[in-house]
Amino acid sequence: MSKSKSPESVKVVVRCRPMNEKERAAKFERVVSVDVKFGQIIVRNPREASANELPKVFTFDSVYDWNSKQIDLYDETFRPLVDSVLLGFNGTIFAYGQTGTGKTYTMEGVRNDPERRGVIPNSFEHIFTHISRSQNQQYLVRASYLEIYQEEIRDLLSKDQSRRLELRERPDTGVYVKDLSSFVTKSVREIEHVMNVGNQNRSVGATNMNEHSSRSHAIFVITVECSELGVDGENHIRVGKLNLVDLAGSERQTKTGAQGERLKEATKINLSLSALGNVISALVDGRSSHIPYRDSKLTRLLQDSLGGNARTVMVANIGPASYNVEETLTTLRYSNRAKNIKNKPRINEDPKDALLREFQEEIARLKAQLQKRSGKKKRRRQRRRAGEGSDGEDLEEGETEEEDDEDGDDKGDYWREQQEKLETEKKEIMEDHSLVAEEKARLLREKQKKMEDLKREREAGEMLAAKVKAMESKLLVGGKNIVDHTNEQQRMLEQKRQEIAEQKRREREMQQQVESRDEETLELKETYSSLQQEVDIKTKKLKKLFAKLQAVKAEIHDIQEVHINDRQELEQTQNELTRDLKLKHLIIENFIPLEEKNKIVNRAYFDEEDEYWKMKPITRLEDDHQMMTRPLSAVGYKRPLSHHAHMAMMLRPDMRYKAENIMMLDMDLPARTTKEYQEPVIAPKVAAALEDALRDEDEIQVDASGFHSSLGQTPPASSSSSSLKKPKSGRPRTGKKSSTPTSPFSPSSPGSPLYPQSRGLVPK
Ligand code: ADP
Ligand code: MG
Repeated sequence: MSKSKSPESVKVVVRCRPMNEKERAAKFERVVSVDVKFGQIIVRNPREASANELPKVFTFDSVYDWNSKQIDLYDETFRPLVDSVLLGFNGTIFAYGQTGTGKTYTMEGVRNDPERRGVIPNSFEHIFTHISRSQNQQYLVRASYLEIYQEEIRDLLSKDQSRRLELRERPDTGVYVKDLSSFVTKSVREIEHVMNVGNQNRSVGATNMNEHSSRSHAIFVITVECSELGVDGENHIRVGKLNLVDLAGSERQTKTGAQGERLKEATKINLSLSALGNVISALVDGRSSHIPYRDSKLTRLLQDSLGGNARTVMVANIGPASYNVEETLTTLRYSNRAKNIKNKPRINEDPKDALLREFQEEIARLKAQLQKRSGKKKRRRQRRRAGEGSDGEDLEEGETEEEDDEDGDDKGDYWREQQEKLETEKKEIMEDHSLVAEEKARLLREKQKKMEDLKREREAGEMLAAKVKAMESKLLVGGKNIVDHTNEQQRMLEQKRQEIAEQKRREREMQQQVESRDEETLELKETYSSLQQEVDIKTKKLKKLFAKLQAVKAEIHDIQEVHINDRQELEQTQNELTRDLKLKHLIIENFIPLEEKNKIVNRAYFDEEDEYWKMKPITRLEDDHQMMTRPLSAVGYKRPLSHHAHMAMMLRPDMRYKAENIMMLDMDLPARTTKEYQEPVIAPKVAAALEDALRDEDEIQVDASGFHSSLGQTPPASSSSSSLKKPKSGRPRTGKKSSTPTSPFSPSSPGSPLYPQSRGLVPK
């Protein structure tokens, strides 16, 4: 097994789904054509179909049209990847594309239909079949299932679905999800069960499953560990990890009009996806030294799959209909870029975190323990055989003297014999009339105890054996644990299919090469018999080149347009976020007391690990030792005591109120600065005037000067007299009396000094 060190490209395949019922019913035009032989996708623009615009052509590693079978994709594209995972490489399959184009169909497919099963179930079959056919290898297979939604990681296999998990990084093993559960699976059925549980949990938290699944990323992880005796006589462990990723829908989330929660959601949903795009761009750019893996959970978690230690396949899913053309083109451009990512996969040999090693060690330890137990047992047996038994054991048992009689049958016999022997002894005692009643009872008790001990020991031994068995059963060995239901013929068939797939792939590659060389060599090969012929051929070539130039130009134009759109969208998002921030600032500046604000600012810190702002817990200052240590006088007592109490206690230990709490621990409430509202007292004269005034339809003039003075505030010169007065003739004036404590009509002009005013720290 050679370790591959040379970089290899991310493999990109495109799959176009068939038109669905609705599209057929609405008679949508099909704008996508698929050239399986050349590995090309050709997209016509429906708007200017007749005009001069040329159809756009994209070339990929392979392409699949609407007639493609799941098994074809598996054999040609995914099987080689899973095979390398079984060899100890990391492998990743991404399904990318607009919602409804077949990502989940490709990854999971239709569960109960073997024909339409997706990559995930097919890989289960593949992995366990491979193990069952292996020889002299030990395998351990485990699975995890997680989901990323709005930049939060949820373990789909955990009981507590409300919990959010964190990413952690270790220098030796890289980024991992802390506390992610993983289940050891021993068969296809078991791992399918794990997948089903995860899928059920996936829909549990979601109110609208369609929307949820189109906005979240689901990652199914299968880890295959394999232990094999190396040429050096040591056991070596290889660990392959397969990430099966069903990405969120790639369509643009409409951000227009989004605010608050909705805006946050919109920006977060696409964060992982746009970060993925940015990582891809940075990787293929070649100029950028910084790859923004840390920008999102998805890219951080799958860092290895993008330019690192993994083999990666990206399946781009597209729809054929005309109304999807924009998204289809975006998807094709996106995946076209991904083709150029170079990975450096290598076999993971003897990694530190191999679970298989742990299992092997644990089994060895338990076995040693069991050995020791049975050793003890044997010694005792031998002792008994030698006639050391004090209570008259007979030695009629005819056991074989094998040193290694470890098999369960023999053990069972041993236990049974012991039990029977004790029973007969018990009976003998009962029947022995020579013994005194007391003596008899004692002997019987003894026997009873012995029997119980025997039982306990037996149970402990059995438990240990069961534990060893359970652990061993988790380690899979070829042809033993798993029913191999594939016979030789089937294996041949598989091999043939694989060969055909390989053949097809090579053909396609050659065809692509021929195509590109054709143009280069055309000229060299030609010998012109006449000038006219030369002109013709060259004209033809010129035309061809011109067409190509036009296509490239159109492509550049398109990409520029896409960029402009992206930029506008980003600017819009930025504007919205800035507005949001400004609002928050205003609220803080105007409504949060400065000291509170400072307290919070002092407590806040940025956690580099989680990339999140966090709050330090409220603690006393560290240097304030006085507060932290217990006062001397209180050592050994419930609470501080005065010297007097101390002395009194020594004199009279039964002192009353000893260690009683004499301190007041009620909260110290601040002095009130406000008053209860009181019904205004209105002089009868005023009441009468009021009554009078209300009777006629005219407005009432209010003078609030008395109100301000009653609160002890001096209003700004302008406020009371000029801004509130609306000089209109013929109106009765009320509330003129400055002695009235509060006016029944409070002024409500916005300029009133009673309302808080901005401290003016934020520019408006
Ligand atoms: P996505 O996960 O990308 O949102 P789905 O996988 O849910 O899309 O596919 C949407 C619908 O299209 C499903 O009903 C699925 O069965 C159907 N579909 C997708 N791809 C194919 C295909 N290649 N052949 C047949 N049906 C398909
Ligand atoms: Mg889906």
